[in-house]
Amino acid sequence: MTSTFDNGIEWARRAERVIPGGLNSFSRHLGAPYGFSRSRGAYVWDFDGNRYVDYHAAFGAIVLGHNDPDVDAAVAGSQEPVDLMGIGITRPEVELAELVCEVIPSADQMICATSGSEATFHAVRLSRAVTGRRLIVKVQGGYHGWHDSVARNVISPPQLAYGLDPMSTGILPETLDATLIAEFNDLGSLEDLYTRHQEQIAAVIVEPIPHNVGSLLPDPGYLEGLRKITEAQGSLLIFDEVITGFRHALGGWQEISGVTPDLTSFGKAMGNGYPVAGLAGRHEYMQRFNSAGGDVLLAGTFTGHPIACAAAVATIRKLRAANVFARTAELGGRMRTGLAGIVEELGLPAVVRGYGSVWCLYFLDGEVHGYRDLMRNDDERYRTFHRKMTDRGFLMLPMSLKRNHISFAHTEADVDATLGAARDVLKELG
Ligand code: PLP
Repeated sequence: MTSTFDNGIEWARRAERVIPGGLNSFSRHLGAPYGFSRSRGAYVWDFDGNRYVDYHAAFGAIVLGHNDPDVDAAVAGSQEPVDLMGIGITRPEVELAELVCEVIPSADQMICATSGSEATFHAVRLSRAVTGRRLIVKVQGGYHGWHDSVARNVISPPQLAYGLDPMSTGILPETLDATLIAEFNDLGSLEDLYTRHQEQIAAVIVEPIPHNVGSLLPDPGYLEGLRKITEAQGSLLIFDEVITGFRHALGGWQEISGVTPDLTSFGKAMGNGYPVAGLAGRHEYMQRFNSAGGDVLLAGTFTGHPIACAAAVATIRKLRAANVFARTAELGGRMRTGLAGIVEELGLPAVVRGYGSVWCLYFLDGEVHGYRDLMRNDDERYRTFHRKMTDRGFLMLPMSLKRNHISFAHTEADVDATLGAARDVLKELG
């Protein structure tokens, strides 16, 4: 019989022999601990049996807590004696689309995907189909997945920021050139692009809070400005709510801001860790995916998988029934206030940011509105902070300029223990 715990280094060596670099995503590198073999609620255990309070939360996919019993029960699916069919429909995908259209303000219809990247891929292609235009705009620091149209200019070094900074080789130069870069919270930078590329921009895609660089909150009027400009220019506005959706409110950031995009991508928290994502939007646009008469390709053996959709239905129902957003925001507030107090007490050049259940610590001084401000961040200091927190049993995102997530399973005691450790570590850092 295999025991839950084992030797982490041995597993890492085995992985390196058969998986490139020993990891299945470029962003999973942590060093020790090398991997995990148990997760429950707010905690995860590494191969060697050490416990961590988890704020990484699978890059934000875990919102209710690991192995949430209600979601797991739905997946075990006693009422759904069907697995993948790949033809016709199954009940969970219909129930999921009904729920999404009910709770997301801009959603008349929805299509399923298995990852956030797939959802944004469809959004970009649909925008080009609707407008007949070639270019799209994203902001420096925004991440929308690994596909060619969007995989550029995320955490760029200062010499490449706003210029050409692809995340991968192998992307056609003409595809990279078809994506323009603006600055978050700077409507002027978008207007400049429209002046230079008149009637060529199909869509603006934006995380309403660019959580891929921590937590840049939209300045008052910014999202409204995006809506106004895109509408006037005949482009689509895509809110990429893969992180903000089902984490900050049932209806995503569009519910909170009151700004309605044309298309919305979501994923991550929607299925509390199961592989499910989607794209929703206005009926007239979504109808372009209609297999009877539409002209935009929608395909995928696993899309609308009953297990993933059942997980999402159970997650959304629990998000609606339980007091999840208020409770996690309360814990998030406790964390942010506690950290800000420590930073002030120690007189550190650091700022605490976040919203609701999300928190992050930037190692810089002064105001933070856009990516330009984040280039002052002391990455080396973050790396030391991260390593020391990991060694003390607190798991956070390993990359500087990223955010951390609180789930419904975290407690005040978890937050207070984290603050205690952070205080010790920040004091050591000086
Ligand atoms: N959009 C945003 C805002 C994301 O943060 C991510 C992933 O981190 C994606 C899209 C891509 O999602 P996935 O990793 O599920 O492909």
